[in-house]
Amino acid sequence: MAYLTLKNLNKIYPNGFHAVHNFNLEIEKGEFIVFVGSSGCGKSTTLRMIAGLEEISSGEFLIDGKRANELGPRQREVAMVFQSYALYPQMTVYDNLAFSLTLQGVDEDVIEKKVEKTAKILGLTEYLDRLPRALSGGQRQRVAVGRAIIRKVGIFLMDEPLSNLDAKQRVTMRSEITQIHKEIGATTIYVTHDQTEAMTMADRIVVMKDGYVQQVGTPHDLYFEPANVFVAGFIGEPPMNFFRGTVKDGKVSFGDQQIDLSKKFSEIAQLKEFEGKELILGFRPESIVLGEQPDAYHVTCDVELTEMLGDTTNVYIMVGEEQAILKVDPHDAPSLDSKAVFSIPYKSLYLFDGETENAIR
Ligand code: ADP
Ligand code: MG
Repeated sequence: MAYLTLKNLNKIYPNGFHAVHNFNLEIEKGEFIVFVGSSGCGKSTTLRMIAGLEEISSGEFLIDGKRANELGPRQREVAMVFQSYALYPQMTVYDNLAFSLTLQGVDEDVIEKKVEKTAKILGLTEYLDRLPRALSGGQRQRVAVGRAIIRKVGIFLMDEPLSNLDAKQRVTMRSEITQIHKEIGATTIYVTHDQTEAMTMADRIVVMKDGYVQQVGTPHDLYFEPANVFVAGFIGEPPMNFFRGTVKDGKVSFGDQQIDLSKKFSEIAQLKEFEGKELILGFRPESIVLGEQPDAYHVTCDVELTEMLGDTTNVYIMVGEEQAILKVDPHDAPSLDSKAVFSIPYKSLYLFDGETENAIR
């Protein structure tokens, strides 16, 4: 049985706004789950329903198979880290870490041992006497994480905990949080709008849009088998390229180019289903190879702009009226205003239904 079960969870706010629709998920003990999606898609609302900070409008939340809808945050044994670190400014790092244990009436010497151990895990040992204002953003965030992990709780919830940090600190804290999760093994739900954070940290990712779950899967699943156009475009940087076209005689045209679907689909029966249908073709910028390669579609394009990033060059191209981005080795980058030919391996071409935008497999 799953450790946490979210069954048809809905949130309708008092003003009538339906923020979360039929959210279903089963979470195993020790999993690191990431909710990802653009601002306003319902990530925090869902997390707060799990925490017991927001009433569940309908549906059920189960912990260890037992209904938990009516339990308060303390009874659910959750610890939460917010975007604003919410440290007590007048207390030292030691007292901030010790606070919740002191409230619970834990013995002083037990508290001391726990604070020392937590500080060690987080590299805060030499800062225990400092006040929060004498710490860097990253160190403050570590204290906030420390306050959450010092209590032994089953569920660890984090709502965009890194968004107040600069890019470098975010990368460091990202791996530190993953490391801490490995050490303490608590079931974690982590909310972010950043697909890179989701991809690098999660065991499984839940992609959300407008209050609806779009797909649940491992980072590998989401990248290689996106369920729809939204997920395909959300995961990956730069995003997947899309071309729209109608199938005629088994081919999709865009500009003066043609994609012959029979090359990818050997089953004629399957091809027939597509005839006359509008499809969205997708390929990732990094999946192409320059030049004419075997087992691939060959596309001629106009090179509009190149961006040298060091390890790669992003090439902005036009194919007829359609724009796309290619990711290439800087040494091979085609020159500006030239024509270039690139190959999309058959296996790297994605098809989506033009109407529903769902993947066609
Ligand atoms: P996210 O965390 O993904 O950015 P939220 O869960 O905070 O999104 O919000 C989801 C939607 O619900 C947003 O459109 C937001 O404006 C709305 N919302 C959040 N809190 C309330 C509230 N108390 N009353 C009404 N609508 C709310
Ligand atoms: Mg939020």
